[in-house]
Amino acid sequence: MSKAEFLPNRPAITAPALGEPFLLTPGPLTTSLATKQAMLRDWGSWDGDFNQVTAEIRQGLLVMAGISDDSYCCVPLQGSGTFAVEAAMATAIARDGKALVLMNGAYGKRAGQILDYLGRAHVDLDMGDYLPPEPEKVAEMLDADPEITDVFLVHCETSSGILNPLKELAEVIKSRGKGLIVDAMSSFGAVPLTVDQIPFDVMVSSANKCIEGIPGFGFVIIRRTLLEQSKGRAHSLSLDLFEQWQYMERTGQWRFTPPTHSVVAFRKALEQHQQEGGVAGREARYTNNRNTLVAGMRALGFKTLLEDQWLSPIIITFFSPEHPNFEFKRFYDELKARQFVIYPGKLTIAESFRIGCIGQIDERIVLQLLRAIADALDVMGVDQSSNT
Ligand SMILES: *Cc1c(COP(=O)(O)O)cnc(C)c1O
Repeated sequence: MSKAEFLPNRPAITAPALGEPFLLTPGPLTTSLATKQAMLRDWGSWDGDFNQVTAEIRQGLLVMAGISDDSYCCVPLQGSGTFAVEAAMATAIARDGKALVLMNGAYGKRAGQILDYLGRAHVDLDMGDYLPPEPEKVAEMLDADPEITDVFLVHCETSSGILNPLKELAEVIKSRGKGLIVDAMSSFGAVPLTVDQIPFDVMVSSANKCIEGIPGFGFVIIRRTLLEQSKGRAHSLSLDLFEQWQYMERTGQWRFTPPTHSVVAFRKALEQHQQEGGVAGREARYTNNRNTLVAGMRALGFKTLLEDQWLSPIIITFFSPEHPNFEFKRFYDELKARQFVIYPGKLTIAESFRIGCIGQIDERIVLQLLRAIADALDVMGVDQSSNT
């Protein structure tokens, strides 16, 4: 479907409140006024109305993942996304299991660290900063080591912005009968990810990325049979996903104090996600943001870290100009003074910075950003015309 088909229904993007910058970051990101306004009242965590909100968001997330029966469960968990990743891994991987961790950036590395804390055996395939894990290589590793029970991978590795070839990898992993754990933190809601296409066992995401809610909780969508088997596996009381699920099923409530405002804001954000045309609508807007951004930045002399085929519609890494007058902190401040907040890079190989395509921004705002970047380079005395 084309982008234009979604435009008539799409809620208008409005500038944030006076003086508040646009967050061109991978979350927390710029949310809509309606989402912010949903937070202007207090809720009791035991109250029936609030429990209804919890039930609605759990159901809405299952639908987004293409689940229409009770073969999967959605379990939200307080905290940032990493809390949910940690809880999911502790639940999905047996204590005597062994994981293959596919890494090509900070979030894959973090998964390895989590397994070290959990005391779970793992082997890693580390592709460095900007290359995708190759399905053939993964097949080879799985065939060579029958002890591997589960594979963890990051869908969009937010540290570079690379969109990993999830479908091809999932085929290799499932054809060998291994568990598939997907960190879809920065992609779910804007890149199609449904169980008919990607037969994952576990998928983890959070409130403050592509669904455009505010921070406060993550959520795990997990195969019911796997969750049912996981009693007693968790290493941590507060991150015990099985117990969180059981309690929620029994009472409709969160096991410990829920981030009430974040939950009601999320319901509002889900409503707007649907109005925009669901995942397809959001993907169209973010893709358009990405295309406008990359074309405009290239015209200004910037280069992307990744080749075009790996660029996600989520976040883009640009190399910092080599010009002696360029300094990231100054660049950041100049852009912030023009109402745009960007994100530092996370590469070991070169100086870089990142610009997000997600949140309440559209092409018009990206064009304003590009003008701000041109102005900032101008006042810094960074001339890249020789690069173009
Ligand atoms: C944001 C993100 C996370 C979680 O990070 P938190 O700071 O804990 O919210 C995990 N994985 C990926 C790919 C992410 O983009």
